[in-house]
Amino acid sequence: MEVATTYLSQCSVRKPTECVYVFCDCSEAIKSIVCKFESSKDPIIIRKLLCIEKQLHEMSVFVKLVKITGHSGIFGNDIADQEAHEAAQNIMRGKVTASEVLSVHDGYTIAKDILKKSWQRKWNEDSTGRYTYDLLPAVCKNVTLPMPSSHSVGVSYCRMLLHDTFLKDDGFRTGISDSSVCSCGEEKESVEHVLLRCCENTEARSVMLDCVSDICKSQCKMDITESLLLAPDSQSNGLSRREDMYCKEALFDFIASVDKRI
Ligand SMILES: [Zn+2]
Repeated sequence: MEVATTYLSQCSVRKPTECVYVFCDCSEAIKSIVCKFESSKDPIIIRKLLCIEKQLHEMSVFVKLVKITGHSGIFGNDIADQEAHEAAQNIMRGKVTASEVLSVHDGYTIAKDILKKSWQRKWNEDSTGRYTYDLLPAVCKNVTLPMPSSHSVGVSYCRMLLHDTFLKDDGFRTGISDSSVCSCGEEKESVEHVLLRCCENTEARSVMLDCVSDICKSQCKMDITESLLLAPDSQSNGLSRREDMYCKEALFDFIASVDKRI
């Protein structure tokens, strides 16, 4: 709350009213603050908190105290708690040093790092979205793509990445199509089938594959696969950023010329 006071007092542009959220899993601490118990174990801290809250209130900033679920008993969290406790003890005893000043920027950086790691762990361990995960395993990845010739081409590409297209294989799975078989009758109308095998797109595919083959000439024995064409991360396919950009341009031209709703 002190950091919030300093930060908000230095902001040149602010909303008319703002909120600061304080998350806490300790019922006793919340009770002490809500009931303003000066007789609690730490009356000085309570007085200080109330003083800061008043300062924030005068700045039209409202403090919201949020009770969150405690994580005691969860193995990983208990280890983290123990490590944090030991680190705090070591700082107090002077065994390790820690900066006494934490800027707002430092706070954002730490929070961003924690969120990114947490998101990546969830993405790694999740049981859904595995098709997309195989194409794009890293979260927060900056992806550069060519400008599609039309909005619908860009949307179709995103549908392909998300494994949620209007093609019959996906449509049959989600219940919007009676059959999963392509109109060519050869096999399921999957993204892979349309990109690499469907006889109804031979001409457009030939143009795309010639183009991609030229780009990949420097890569020995590189197979042109669904992943090579779709994955937005050039490094995973051994291509340079520029080579991958040319591949995506060829793919976007193919999507634009295919007579199918993707
Ligand atoms: Zn087909």
